[in-house]
Amino acid sequence: MLFDTHFHLDLVEDNLGLLQRLEEMKIYTIAVTNLPKLFSHTEKLCEGFKFIRPALGFHPELASQYKSQLSVFRELIDRSRYIGEIGLDNLRKASQDFKDQKDIFSSILNICAEDGNKILTIHSRRAEKQLISMIGNNFPGKIILHWYSGSLKDLETALSYGFYFSINYNMTQSVNGKKIIGALPLDRILLESDGPFTVLENVPFTPLNSKITINEIIRIKKNIVNAEEIEASVFFNNFKSLLSGN
Ligand SMILES: [Zn+2]
Repeated sequence: MLFDTHFHLDLVEDNLGLLQRLEEMKIYTIAVTNLPKLFSHTEKLCEGFKFIRPALGFHPELASQYKSQLSVFRELIDRSRYIGEIGLDNLRKASQDFKDQKDIFSSILNICAEDGNKILTIHSRRAEKQLISMIGNNFPGKIILHWYSGSLKDLETALSYGFYFSINYNMTQSVNGKKIIGALPLDRILLESDGPFTVLENVPFTPLNSKITINEIIRIKKNIVNAEEIEASVFFNNFKSLLSGN
């Protein structure tokens, strides 16, 4: 069984055709959005599809410019269990921009904590340590760090807090990504495409390509843990426990 916890459905051309294929192939997909005002569009697209769920998002790189969208986020909070893309990004950001991001992310965490049962897919580029400590050890809900690229020390902290990590194909091809995959326990690994921001031979990834990523993760793990058999089903089991109350 395949799944994808972070896919930008609304940025893909012919997304209706793709939706139909995902449904036929029973690929569970979380369709993230980048601003609260964009949620309804994706919510409508997903209507009637059993395997695709829209996520309410507020991308950190848009947070400062669209501060007033926080009230829309609050209004829409009950429309989905899935939240993302949210987070922090401190790659070449002005200090005011990053401060706004932190204010908004902190409000989003509070809004989600009140509900208690949300699943959050989170961007953390160059802000990993701060972001992990903002979420903390007792967040009521599930946390997925998407395309994590921080230190192994911060990764250990996140693991001790019970967070999951979603891995995409690009991560399986980079030195740092391989190091991160190597350090993750098998039971914390989820899959994402982050399409269309990831590509293979110039074709953007979609959830249809999940199997390629699974094979690459297994290859990397086998090199490190010396090849006891790794079942591909381990990842889907992680996805099931993400959705469950555990
Ligand atoms: Zn993304």
